[in-house]
Amino acid sequence: MTVNADPQELAKFGELAHRWWDQDGDFRPLHQLNPLRLGWIDQLVHLPGKRALDVGCGGGILAESMAQRGAEVLGIDLSTKPLKVAQLHALEAGVTNLRYREVAVEDLAAEAPTSFDVVTAMEMLEHVPDPASVVRACAALVKPGGWVFFSTINRNAKAWLLAIVGAEHVLKLLPKGTHEYQRFIRPSELTRFAREAGLMPDGFKGLEYNPLTQRFRLTDDTSVNYLLACRAPG
Ligand code: SAH
Repeated sequence: MTVNADPQELAKFGELAHRWWDQDGDFRPLHQLNPLRLGWIDQLVHLPGKRALDVGCGGGILAESMAQRGAEVLGIDLSTKPLKVAQLHALEAGVTNLRYREVAVEDLAAEAPTSFDVVTAMEMLEHVPDPASVVRACAALVKPGGWVFFSTINRNAKAWLLAIVGAEHVLKLLPKGTHEYQRFIRPSELTRFAREAGLMPDGFKGLEYNPLTQRFRLTDDTSVNYLLACRAPG
Protein backbone atom coordinates (compact mmCIF):
# COMPACT_ATOMS: atom_id res chain seq x y z
CA MET A 1 0.00 0.00 0.00
CA THR A 2 1.46 3.32 -1.02
CA VAL A 3 1.35 6.54 0.99
CA ASN A 4 1.06 8.97 -1.91
CA ALA A 5 -2.50 10.01 -1.04
CA ASP A 6 -4.10 12.55 1.26
CA PRO A 7 -6.84 10.83 3.33
CA GLN A 8 -8.71 14.14 3.73
CA GLU A 9 -8.84 14.59 -0.03
CA LEU A 10 -10.12 11.04 -0.53
CA ALA A 11 -12.76 11.57 2.19
CA LYS A 12 -13.88 14.83 0.56
CA PHE A 13 -14.60 13.07 -2.73
CA GLY A 14 -16.21 10.17 -0.84
CA GLU A 15 -18.72 12.53 0.77
CA LEU A 16 -19.71 13.99 -2.59
CA ALA A 17 -19.84 10.64 -4.39
CA HIS A 18 -23.63 10.21 -4.45
CA ARG A 19 -23.94 13.43 -6.45
CA TRP A 20 -21.28 12.51 -9.03
CA TRP A 21 -23.65 11.96 -11.95
CA ASP A 22 -25.99 14.85 -11.13
CA GLN A 23 -25.42 17.04 -14.20
CA ASP A 24 -26.45 20.14 -12.24
CA GLY A 25 -24.71 19.20 -8.97
CA ASP A 26 -21.22 19.58 -7.50
CA PHE A 27 -19.56 17.91 -10.47
CA ARG A 28 -21.36 19.99 -13.10
CA PRO A 29 -18.04 21.49 -14.34
CA LEU A 30 -16.63 18.00 -15.01
CA HIS A 31 -19.78 17.03 -16.92
CA GLN A 32 -19.57 20.22 -18.95
CA LEU A 33 -15.90 19.97 -19.84
CA ASN A 34 -15.87 16.21 -20.45
CA PRO A 35 -16.90 16.29 -24.14
CA LEU A 36 -14.04 18.72 -24.84
CA ARG A 37 -11.28 16.63 -23.28
CA LEU A 38 -12.78 13.40 -24.67
CA GLY A 39 -12.81 14.89 -28.16
CA TRP A 40 -9.18 16.01 -27.89
CA ILE A 41 -8.04 12.62 -26.59
CA ASP A 42 -9.97 10.68 -29.24
CA GLN A 43 -8.64 12.91 -32.01
CA LEU A 44 -5.02 12.15 -31.00
CA VAL A 45 -5.39 8.53 -29.87
CA HIS A 46 -8.34 7.08 -31.86
CA LEU A 47 -9.95 5.35 -28.93
CA PRO A 48 -11.82 2.43 -30.55
CA GLY A 49 -10.03 -0.80 -29.63
CA LYS A 50 -7.41 0.92 -27.47
CA ARG A 51 -6.55 -0.06 -23.88
CA ALA A 52 -7.10 2.98 -21.66
CA LEU A 53 -6.34 3.65 -18.01
CA ASP A 54 -8.05 6.52 -16.15
CA VAL A 55 -6.14 7.41 -12.96
CA GLY A 56 -8.18 9.18 -10.25
CA CYS A 57 -11.33 8.32 -12.21
CA GLY A 58 -13.75 9.26 -9.41
CA GLY A 59 -17.36 8.53 -10.42
CA GLY A 60 -16.22 7.64 -13.93
CA ILE A 61 -17.27 10.58 -16.10
CA LEU A 62 -14.23 10.34 -18.42
CA ALA A 63 -13.67 6.58 -18.02
CA GLU A 64 -17.22 5.70 -19.06
CA SER A 65 -17.17 8.13 -21.98
CA MET A 66 -13.89 6.63 -23.28
CA ALA A 67 -15.48 3.17 -23.04
CA GLN A 68 -18.49 4.43 -24.95
CA ARG A 69 -16.12 5.59 -27.69
CA GLY A 70 -14.92 1.99 -27.98
CA ALA A 71 -11.84 1.79 -25.73
CA GLU A 72 -11.26 -1.04 -23.23
CA VAL A 73 -11.07 1.01 -20.03
CA LEU A 74 -9.77 0.48 -16.50
CA GLY A 75 -10.60 3.24 -14.00
CA ILE A 76 -8.65 3.46 -10.74
CA ASP A 77 -9.03 5.67 -7.68
CA LEU A 78 -8.28 5.43 -3.95
CA SER A 79 -11.65 6.72 -2.75
CA THR A 80 -14.08 3.83 -2.31
CA LYS A 81 -17.46 5.51 -2.69
CA PRO A 82 -16.83 7.24 -6.02
CA LEU A 83 -15.64 3.88 -7.40
CA LYS A 84 -18.87 2.22 -6.27
CA VAL A 85 -20.88 4.98 -7.91
CA ALA A 86 -18.84 4.56 -11.10
CA GLN A 87 -19.40 0.81 -11.14
CA LEU A 88 -23.15 1.16 -10.61
CA HIS A 89 -23.43 3.80 -13.30
CA ALA A 90 -21.61 1.60 -15.83
CA LEU A 91 -23.95 -1.26 -14.96
CA GLU A 92 -27.03 0.90 -15.41
CA ALA A 93 -25.70 2.32 -18.67
CA GLY A 94 -24.93 -1.21 -19.92
CA VAL A 95 -21.27 -0.38 -20.61
CA THR A 96 -19.31 -3.63 -20.38
CA ASN A 97 -15.84 -2.71 -21.75
CA LEU A 98 -15.12 -0.86 -18.49
CA ARG A 99 -13.72 -2.02 -15.14
CA TYR A 100 -12.88 -0.25 -11.92
CA ARG A 101 -10.29 -1.02 -9.23
CA GLU A 102 -9.23 0.56 -5.96
CA VAL A 103 -5.47 0.53 -6.43
CA ALA A 104 -2.70 3.14 -6.25
CA VAL A 105 -1.26 4.06 -9.61
CA GLU A 106 2.27 3.36 -8.28
CA ASP A 107 1.20 -0.18 -7.30
CA LEU A 108 -0.47 -0.80 -10.66
CA ALA A 109 2.70 0.40 -12.39
CA ALA A 110 4.69 -2.25 -10.50
CA GLU A 111 2.06 -4.90 -11.30
CA ALA A 112 1.40 -4.19 -14.99
CA PRO A 113 4.02 -1.94 -16.64
CA THR A 114 3.66 -0.92 -20.32
CA SER A 115 0.07 -2.18 -20.52
CA PHE A 116 -1.98 0.74 -21.84
CA ASP A 117 -2.19 2.61 -25.14
CA VAL A 118 -3.47 5.66 -23.33
CA VAL A 119 -3.29 6.82 -19.71
CA THR A 120 -5.27 9.79 -18.39
CA ALA A 121 -4.96 11.55 -15.01
CA MET A 122 -7.41 14.42 -15.05
CA GLU A 123 -8.06 16.99 -12.34
CA MET A 124 -6.32 14.75 -9.78
CA LEU A 125 -2.62 15.75 -9.61
CA GLU A 126 -3.55 18.83 -7.53
CA HIS A 127 -5.09 16.54 -4.89
CA VAL A 128 -2.01 14.33 -4.43
CA PRO A 129 0.99 14.94 -2.07
CA ASP A 130 3.60 13.89 -4.66
CA PRO A 131 2.28 14.54 -8.17
CA ALA A 132 5.65 13.71 -9.78
CA SER A 133 5.30 10.16 -8.46
CA VAL A 134 1.91 9.84 -10.22
CA VAL A 135 3.46 11.15 -13.44
CA ARG A 136 6.29 8.57 -13.17
CA ALA A 137 3.77 5.77 -12.59
CA CYS A 138 1.69 6.86 -15.61
CA ALA A 139 4.88 6.86 -17.71
CA ALA A 140 5.63 3.31 -16.57
CA LEU A 141 2.09 2.12 -17.39
CA VAL A 142 1.90 3.40 -20.96
CA LYS A 143 3.11 1.27 -23.88
CA PRO A 144 5.97 2.53 -26.05
CA GLY A 145 4.52 5.05 -28.50
CA GLY A 146 1.37 5.50 -26.38
CA TRP A 147 -0.20 8.65 -25.02
CA VAL A 148 -0.48 10.13 -21.51
CA PHE A 149 -2.82 13.02 -20.71
CA PHE A 150 -2.80 15.20 -17.60
CA SER A 151 -5.00 18.07 -16.58
CA THR A 152 -4.66 20.34 -13.58
CA ILE A 153 -4.77 23.99 -12.52
CA ASN A 154 -1.99 26.53 -13.01
CA ARG A 155 -0.52 28.35 -9.98
CA ASN A 156 -0.65 32.12 -10.40
CA ALA A 157 -2.81 35.07 -9.26
CA LYS A 158 -5.33 34.65 -12.09
CA ALA A 159 -5.79 30.95 -11.37
CA TRP A 160 -6.33 31.71 -7.67
CA LEU A 161 -8.88 34.37 -8.55
CA LEU A 162 -10.81 32.29 -11.09
CA ALA A 163 -10.42 28.70 -9.82
CA ILE A 164 -10.83 29.40 -6.10
CA VAL A 165 -12.49 32.79 -5.52
CA GLY A 166 -14.57 32.72 -8.71
CA ALA A 167 -15.49 29.03 -8.99
CA GLU A 168 -15.95 28.24 -5.28
CA HIS A 169 -17.12 31.52 -3.76
CA VAL A 170 -18.70 33.74 -6.41
CA LEU A 171 -20.18 31.41 -9.04
CA LYS A 172 -20.43 28.45 -6.64
CA LEU A 173 -19.55 26.03 -9.43
CA LEU A 174 -17.56 23.89 -6.97
CA PRO A 175 -17.97 23.23 -3.22
CA LYS A 176 -15.85 25.49 -0.99
CA GLY A 177 -12.52 23.86 -0.15
CA THR A 178 -12.38 21.80 -3.36
CA HIS A 179 -8.96 23.21 -4.21
CA GLU A 180 -5.89 24.41 -2.32
CA TYR A 181 -3.79 27.07 -4.05
CA GLN A 182 -0.42 25.63 -2.92
CA ARG A 183 -1.19 22.37 -4.72
CA PHE A 184 -1.73 23.94 -8.11
CA ILE A 185 0.93 23.04 -10.70
CA ARG A 186 2.56 25.30 -13.26
CA PRO A 187 2.81 24.03 -16.86
CA SER A 188 6.62 24.33 -16.56
CA GLU A 189 6.56 22.05 -13.49
CA LEU A 190 4.29 19.49 -15.15
CA THR A 191 6.52 19.53 -18.23
CA ARG A 192 9.54 18.86 -16.01
CA PHE A 193 7.78 15.98 -14.20
CA ALA A 194 6.87 14.46 -17.58
CA ARG A 195 10.38 14.82 -19.06
CA GLU A 196 12.00 13.42 -15.90
CA ALA A 197 9.65 10.43 -16.20
CA GLY A 198 10.82 9.84 -19.78
CA LEU A 199 7.71 11.21 -21.50
CA MET A 200 7.74 13.67 -24.38
CA PRO A 201 5.37 16.61 -23.83
CA ASP A 202 3.44 17.02 -27.09
CA GLY A 203 1.01 19.87 -26.57
CA PHE A 204 -1.06 21.94 -24.15
CA LYS A 205 -4.68 23.06 -24.26
CA GLY A 206 -6.35 25.55 -21.96
CA LEU A 207 -9.86 25.13 -20.60
CA GLU A 208 -11.71 28.41 -20.38
CA TYR A 209 -15.04 28.94 -18.62
CA ASN A 210 -17.39 31.66 -19.75
CA PRO A 211 -19.71 32.58 -16.85
CA LEU A 212 -22.16 34.32 -19.18
CA THR A 213 -22.79 31.34 -21.46
CA GLN A 214 -21.89 28.89 -18.64
CA ARG A 215 -19.82 26.91 -21.10
CA PHE A 216 -16.23 25.68 -21.34
CA ARG A 217 -14.10 25.82 -24.46
CA LEU A 218 -10.64 24.57 -25.41
CA THR A 219 -8.14 27.37 -26.01
CA ASP A 220 -4.38 27.83 -26.22
CA ASP A 221 -4.38 29.78 -22.93
CA THR A 222 -2.98 27.64 -20.11
CA SER A 223 -3.22 30.36 -17.43
CA VAL A 224 -5.92 28.60 -15.35
CA ASN A 225 -7.17 25.05 -16.04
CA TYR A 226 -5.11 23.21 -18.65
CA LEU A 227 -4.36 19.82 -20.25
CA LEU A 228 -1.05 18.36 -21.36
CA ALA A 229 -0.69 15.55 -23.91
CA CYS A 230 2.54 13.50 -23.76
CA ARG A 231 3.91 10.68 -25.87
CA ALA A 232 5.88 7.73 -24.67
CA PRO A 233 9.05 7.11 -26.71
CA GLY A 234 9.06 4.12 -29.01
N1 SAH B 1 -10.53 12.36 -12.99
C1 SAH B 1 -11.95 12.53 -12.73
C2 SAH B 1 -12.25 12.94 -11.29
C3 SAH B 1 -11.56 14.19 -10.79
S1 SAH B 1 -11.90 14.52 -9.06
C4 SAH B 1 -12.49 13.52 -13.72
O1 SAH B 1 -11.75 14.41 -14.15
O2 SAH B 1 -13.65 13.42 -14.09
C5 SAH B 1 -10.36 13.98 -8.31
C6 SAH B 1 -10.29 12.50 -8.07
O3 SAH B 1 -8.97 12.18 -7.68
C7 SAH B 1 -11.22 11.99 -6.95
O4 SAH B 1 -11.98 10.92 -7.40
C8 SAH B 1 -10.24 11.55 -5.88
O5 SAH B 1 -10.72 10.47 -5.09
C9 SAH B 1 -9.05 11.17 -6.71
N2 SAH B 1 -7.79 11.10 -5.97
C10 SAH B 1 -7.30 11.95 -5.04
N3 SAH B 1 -6.11 11.53 -4.60
C11 SAH B 1 -5.83 10.37 -5.26
C12 SAH B 1 -4.74 9.46 -5.24
N4 SAH B 1 -3.69 9.67 -4.45
N5 SAH B 1 -4.80 8.38 -6.05
C13 SAH B 1 -5.86 8.19 -6.86
N6 SAH B 1 -6.92 9.02 -6.92
C14 SAH B 1 -6.90 10.10 -6.13
